[in-house]
Amino acid sequence: MTTERKPYQKPLPELHPEVEPFFRGGMRSELLIKRCADCGTFQHYPRIICGNCLSKNTVWIRASGKGTVYSYTITYQNLSRGWREEVPYVLALVDLAEGVRLMTNIVECDPKAVYVGMPVEVTWERIPEEGIAIPKFRPPKK
Ligand code: ZN
Repeated sequence: MTTERKPYQKPLPELHPEVEPFFRGGMRSELLIKRCADCGTFQHYPRIICGNCLSKNTVWIRASGKGTVYSYTITYQNLSRGWREEVPYVLALVDLAEGVRLMTNIVECDPKAVYVGMPVEVTWERIPEEGIAIPKFRPPKK
């Protein structure tokens, strides 16, 4: 018996060349961030040019997937398709171990259990029909 999967309901990222590897990497469980090969600075969101030294010599690095919650909010009402089924959910800023910050959701836990400084690890919302995955974060598996 097969379970039919509903089509993905949330807005999809635009896969222009600067960001496409970020979303494709998730299908391989790889959280990719950019690092400048000249000055060593990590950066996120992905950009071709280094925000520190303006070098175009930036490369993709596989991040550890570990981070901490910098800030968050719990959303109790969202009427948008794809999101309304998930309220309440946590929108958060997570600081990765590599030093960059990204906006994401904290999942696989009670939203009221989330706190600033909470250790988290990456997990994936996979969208196989698009060949991409969206990074989400959860409390570390013990
Ligand atoms: Zn640089």
